[in-house]
Amino acid sequence: MSGSSHNVDVVVAGGGPAGAVCALMLARSGVGVCLAHWDGYSTGGIELVSGRARRMIEQYCPGFFQQETFGIPGMEVHETISLWGTPEPVTLSMMFNPWGAGVAVERALFDQKLRDLADAAGVSVITGAKVIGIDRRSDQWQLSLRLGDAECDPVCARFLVLATGRAAAPFFDQSPVGESSQIALMASLNPLTCTSEHTLYVEAMDNGWWYALPAPDCGHFAGFCTSRKEIKQRRVSLREFFFGELRRTRLLAPLLDKTDTPVNLRITGRMAGTRAFSKAAGNGWIAVGDAAYAPDPLSGMGIELAIESAQLGAGALLGAMQRGLHEIAGRNIFAEYEEAIRERASRHSKMAAYHYGGL
Ligand SMILES: Cc1cc2nc3c(=O)[nH]c(=O)nc-3n(C[C@H](O)[C@H](O)[C@H](O)COP(=O)(O)OP(=O)(O)OC[C@H]3O[C@@H](n4cnc5c(N)ncnc54)[C@H](O)[C@@H]3O)c2cc1C
Repeated sequence: MSGSSHNVDVVVAGGGPAGAVCALMLARSGVGVCLAHWDGYSTGGIELVSGRARRMIEQYCPGFFQQETFGIPGMEVHETISLWGTPEPVTLSMMFNPWGAGVAVERALFDQKLRDLADAAGVSVITGAKVIGIDRRSDQWQLSLRLGDAECDPVCARFLVLATGRAAAPFFDQSPVGESSQIALMASLNPLTCTSEHTLYVEAMDNGWWYALPAPDCGHFAGFCTSRKEIKQRRVSLREFFFGELRRTRLLAPLLDKTDTPVNLRITGRMAGTRAFSKAAGNGWIAVGDAAYAPDPLSGMGIELAIESAQLGAGALLGAMQRGLHEIAGRNIFAEYEEAIRERASRHSKMAAYHYGGL
């Protein structure tokens, strides 16, 4: 829909998995929700939806991953819940997972499909709307939005859900705490691979971790998580660095056609590592997903935790609305929610440090 003026119960800023699922849950409980989404920081590429995340999504939308309209072949990955666990190269295909198989998805389509679900549940989705300002006016939130080059009418709401991902920091002085200096370099190896296996590869190297997920057209999408320092020290192009390291691997090197590395293969970089913010909630607002706490990409739990926090957050908002609470001076009415997020974040960070804190 286009940018017309809105007055709703809840406004959600950011339509990744956390924002879309939170909006969906609230709308299905009869709450008036507006979701403002801008693609500028969207992740793209291939990602793994863990077996548990898959179960959680299918709770709201039975058969979500089987739908023909989903747009990609839903590939099953019989992974364990996390990619962590061994310093040795591993090929995971049929390991026992109590939650059932996970799925490799094309992220942009996956996110779009979740927003479509929210839209169908009655959420007013404003596509292409960048949130450029968040103000508190008496007891209401007012979000200023930009659609393309033009500023459009603001959205006003009693409650705010911040779901803008790991770039959330500018809002509410949420200073980042506990961030590591990792970066992930990624490329789709499809043109290079000759395998059609649905296999997830994980391999620890001396200066980082490789992973490769099955891609929709039966190749692999490979990522290398390493420290930024490591890349700087090499003084070579990202491309040379990426392929140089890939060739040194035991498991993944065979995925390359060594004689013919295409010159135009695109290597992209994404901030990786854990990222936590100083605040995850306050009076009248909560942060969900990576905006509250961004887990390590190699845990394979980012989408799962994003959805879990969306569920917890929606529950906290519904509870406050039922009790007629809005804000209490000097008290955070979402303190319990914030505590639950902190508890999960602390458990996750300890696990990350244990498995590959040296990076
Ligand atoms: C390299 C890498 C690989 C990963 N691989 C996996 C994996 O295989 N499996 C897994 O489960 N997790 C993985 N993760 C983690 C996962 O991507 C995140 O945890 C997950 O996307 C968090 O969802 P979210 O909705 O909180 O945030 P996001 O997915 O970041 O969504 C936030 C959305 O808000 C939008 N937005 C931002 N600012 C604004 C604004 N001002 N106005 C409007 N919209 C805005 C953004 O464009 C974005 O679309 C990986 C992460 C990295 C870095």
